[in-house]
Amino acid sequence: MHCPFCRHPDSRVVDSREADEGQAIRRRRSCPECSRRFTTVETAVLAVVKRSGVTEPFSRDKVVRGVRRACQGRPVDDHALYLLAQQVEEQVRAGGSAEIPSHDVGLAILGPLQDLDEVAYLRFASVYRSFTSAEDFEKEISQLRHHQSG
Ligand SMILES: [Zn+2]
Repeated sequence: MHCPFCRHPDSRVVDSREADEGQAIRRRRSCPECSRRFTTVETAVLAVVKRSGVTEPFSRDKVVRGVRRACQGRPVDDHALYLLAQQVEEQVRAGGSAEIPSHDVGLAILGPLQDLDEVAYLRFASVYRSFTSAEDFEKEISQLRHHQSG
C-alpha cells in the first residue's frame, strides 16, 4: 500500500480492528518514510450478478438511488435510505455467498422498505415484480394489511 502523502511504496500496519459489525477490517498504517498515518478499510468483495450475466460490485449508493426514486414525494429522509441500504447489505452478505443475483438484492430491499414507507414499497414492488394490472396492486395491498394485523 503506497503512502497517500509521499507515495512511498511501503507502509506498516500499526493497528487493525473490525468495523461495520465484522464486515470490514480497518487498519491504521504508518509510513516509514514521512511518518504520517493513514487508514485503510478492507472488505470482502460482494459481486452482484445482473440478468445479463455481467457482474458489478455491490453498492449501497446504488440501493439508495433505486429506493430514492420510489420514495419521491414521500417523507423519507436520506438517513433512513442509508440505513435501509445498510440493512440490505447485511442481509445479502449474511447469505455467505460472494456472488448474488441482482434479483436477490431487490428481494432484500422489499422487507425493510415495507417497514419504511408503504407507498414507496408499492411503487418499488410494482416495478420489481412487474405488476401488470390494478389487481396486482390490490393483491399486494391486501398482503400489506395482513402483514400489519399479523
Ligand atoms: Zn509517506
